[in-house]
Amino acid sequence: MSPLSGIHHVTAIASDAPANVTFYTGVLGLRLVKRTVNFDDPSSYHLYYGDGTGTPGTILTFFAWPGAARGQVGAGEPTAISFSIPAGSHAWWKTRLAGAGLAFQDAGERFGELFLAFRDPDGMTVELIETERAQPHALHFWEHGPVPKPYAIRGIHSVTLAHAASHNASSSFANTAAFGADLGFQPPTASDSDGNRRRFAITGGDAGSFVDVVPSTASRRGRMGAGTIHHIAFRTDDDSSQLAWQHKLIKADYQVTEVMDRVYFRSIYFRERGGVLFEIATDPPGFTVDESEEALGSALKLPKWYEPLRSQLEASLPALPARVAVVGESV
Ligand code: ZN
Repeated sequence: MSPLSGIHHVTAIASDAPANVTFYTGVLGLRLVKRTVNFDDPSSYHLYYGDGTGTPGTILTFFAWPGAARGQVGAGEPTAISFSIPAGSHAWWKTRLAGAGLAFQDAGERFGELFLAFRDPDGMTVELIETERAQPHALHFWEHGPVPKPYAIRGIHSVTLAHAASHNASSSFANTAAFGADLGFQPPTASDSDGNRRRFAITGGDAGSFVDVVPSTASRRGRMGAGTIHHIAFRTDDDSSQLAWQHKLIKADYQVTEVMDRVYFRSIYFRERGGVLFEIATDPPGFTVDESEEALGSALKLPKWYEPLRSQLEASLPALPARVAVVGESV
């Protein structure tokens, strides 16, 4: 069984698809690599962003539920997604975010790396971490994007999870540590703690391999809704490796789903013991399975079982911005 090779994608919830597209493409410079529907609810969009081709490790996806109520971040939930930006690009991003009228926090250093923190249109925390770490994948730079290559987001750096704070710190940490051991992460050492943040690493310290765990500051469990992260997916090489992981996790007493065909990858899902929904997704086949690299994200793509609903869905889904908005321009 091959080890997991980092974060594959993060999936979150948005309330307004057009605003979501404008923010993630126009401000952050990610490419919309797929517009499809939620396979469990085809009346709403599932939007995928990434680098120029949607390389695993660069992907952020949204279930866009029109008018969805704001969720509440709490224990048992991811609280933030962090992207890698190149060494030396911190100041450039501050200017860009300010130019976009975005309130951001110049948040200092985490594990010795400078980072900026801000919120997306639904209130989700997004961070840009300046790093010299390698990404565990080849980046396919999006040539037609609004962010020049020396500053472009390289992919996902890390995610942060909140676990219930316990009066018995060691039992809370035992829960937290369980997923690390079960998924083959390196357990944190003293140098993998920054304040009350503990960092688990999958692959030898590259960006894209980190899961940070912090004690929840909320008194209640989180509530799913707009602006919250739905799940975190980790990468596996192929179907046979995925089945081996499924078998191993079932033996370790996790409730694991059957393999689901997500068209662009195949997935299994389970909750880690702190309550966060995890997925293991295959690297293949990727986003060019149903449209060319050039055309990625330009048209509504449906799995074949929803093709009979196409005209109905096209009539009811909101129009998305046809081109990338330039920051500072009114859209
Ligand atoms: Zn997923």
